[in-house]
Amino acid sequence: MWRYRETIPVPEGFEVTLGEGMTPLLDMHPSMRESVLAAQSASRIMLKLDSLFPSGSYKDRGVSVMVSHCKRLGLRHVVEDSSGNAGSSFAMYCAVAGIACDIYVPEATSPAKLTQVIVSGGNLVRVAGDRQATSDAVWQAAQSHYYVGHAWNPFFFHGTKTFAFEVCEQLGWKAPDAVVIPTGNGTLLLGCWIGFDELRRAGVIDRVPRLIAVQAARCAPLAGATTFSPTIAEGIAIPRPIRREQCLQAVRETKGRVVTVTDAQTIASLGLALRAGYYIEPTCATALAALPHIRDIEGTIVLAITGHGLKTNDTIAKVLQA
Ligand SMILES: *Cc1c(COP(=O)(O)O)cnc(C)c1O
Repeated sequence: MWRYRETIPVPEGFEVTLGEGMTPLLDMHPSMRESVLAAQSASRIMLKLDSLFPSGSYKDRGVSVMVSHCKRLGLRHVVEDSSGNAGSSFAMYCAVAGIACDIYVPEATSPAKLTQVIVSGGNLVRVAGDRQATSDAVWQAAQSHYYVGHAWNPFFFHGTKTFAFEVCEQLGWKAPDAVVIPTGNGTLLLGCWIGFDELRRAGVIDRVPRLIAVQAARCAPLAGATTFSPTIAEGIAIPRPIRREQCLQAVRETKGRVVTVTDAQTIASLGLALRAGYYIEPTCATALAALPHIRDIEGTIVLAITGHGLKTNDTIAKVLQA
């Protein structure tokens, strides 16, 4: 990923890296194409396997840059709140950088999800009460320590934008026609918008692809929903994304759209993906489930495969084992 270091605002010598990036971009397996999109035969459907990152999710793009920035600032101790893939990634990169981290999580978070944090040496702070109580507690901690806040922190987006650079480079410095992105806080959606736009302004590509934000129907604030319930797509279950307006702007200005998919559609797509050799976590299956909703879009369509299935074996077993 650091091959694009000229575009990343961290001076040379501070990189905290685990060899992340340049993940495979593959044509969708023909057996799977037939089942998901007979009606879309004119399009080339490609999968960008960001499931193949050191910590198992694309979050490593943003975290590598963000932790490098922390190193440059000379920070010894930082705080973050995340119970999911961001926390796993963050604890790993902090360990490599020699930076102590406290990760605030709601007390109800399942211990299995936190194993990566614990074994990396991250200090888990379990907060009694709901998600809001966790936010309040991290805010208190932020009075005395640097709060990393990946959904807020601009350095995170300077990492996620490299997704766009890689896709273009892998297509021979051409932009695809659309990118389909499972979206909660929008860190990959907005990273794509920034990255493709930087390439457009540099004259490398002539337009930014349509950005398709996919949300779970049970938690779809970008589609205007105001009621929320738990969904199998837990990685994108963000009821109040702080960059909601920016996300909607990215979709609007690129002539993309917001697509919602049901959990039943996501589970069906997950089954197809696993049988075709893509061992992905349920959240990414929303990108596959979105395809029938964008049948009218033709050309090269890239699906962001954001996380590895091995992270969620329990859930996969629960929903797919007969
Ligand atoms: C974090 C995550 C997403 C969504 O990222 P946002 O920044 O919340 O939009 C999608 N898929 C997986 C696997 C994730 O971990």
